[in-house]
Amino acid sequence: MKKLKVTVWNEFIHERKNEGSKKLYPAGMHKVIADGISKLGGMEVQTATLDEPEHGLTETAVQNTDVLVWWGHRAHGEVKDEIVERVKKRVLEGMGLIVLHSGHYSKIFKSLMGTNCSLKWREAAEKERLWNLEPSHPITEGIGEYIELPNTEMYGERFDIPTPDELIFVSWFEGGEVFRSGCTWRRGHGKVFYFRPGHETYPIFYNSQVIRVIWNACKWAAPQIIMADKCPNISNSLEKLSPKNVDFGKAGIQQ
Ligand code: ZN
Repeated sequence: MKKLKVTVWNEFIHERKNEGSKKLYPAGMHKVIADGISKLGGMEVQTATLDEPEHGLTETAVQNTDVLVWWGHRAHGEVKDEIVERVKKRVLEGMGLIVLHSGHYSKIFKSLMGTNCSLKWREAAEKERLWNLEPSHPITEGIGEYIELPNTEMYGERFDIPTPDELIFVSWFEGGEVFRSGCTWRRGHGKVFYFRPGHETYPIFYNSQVIRVIWNACKWAAPQIIMADKCPNISNSLEKLSPKNVDFGKAGIQQ
């Protein structure tokens, strides 16, 4: 079977500037995510980062990607608009997009959602339990009733997103907040999945359940079709049309 082509994109800044993140992810979170999903099999996984030419998302790279995984935080504003447009166009054509954690505020996610994508947050190393609401969904295959993370950054409602097509996970936090942690949408021919875990100072991407969800989501988001956008004038109808004598030149009003 043809392998799914996955590109894991990361701004790769915290892991070079913050001691805590550097220690946890010396080669970057993208490397740990890419290795984790590669090990589960069936995928050809590439990585791309902000500082590469065209952020590693050249036209060829995007054409060769079935599913793009996105992690960003500090440098959302540094992602060039033309690259965001390129990624968006490809999603609308059918490419899958998995947005992780602070990617909720990325240009690409906000553009595809059309809302502010804002939320509440707190860094207090609290416990999070992500409840699996859809145990029969391909994204939760092998996950069980919940995922428990001992230390996380809290994200709380209201999360300013359009109502998801499917709500897959809801998080409960030690401090009392809840959050829609796993959401799907369709945009054009593409599938989009937002998945909350992934703060850079905790070892979230070493968690096998978190990696399993990302792997499952990549398979779920695989393109069914890649179809370029067009808006053609169809002058030849399938059935023969009888001549019409309607003059809409007068604002459609007939005497
Ligand atoms: Zn965070």
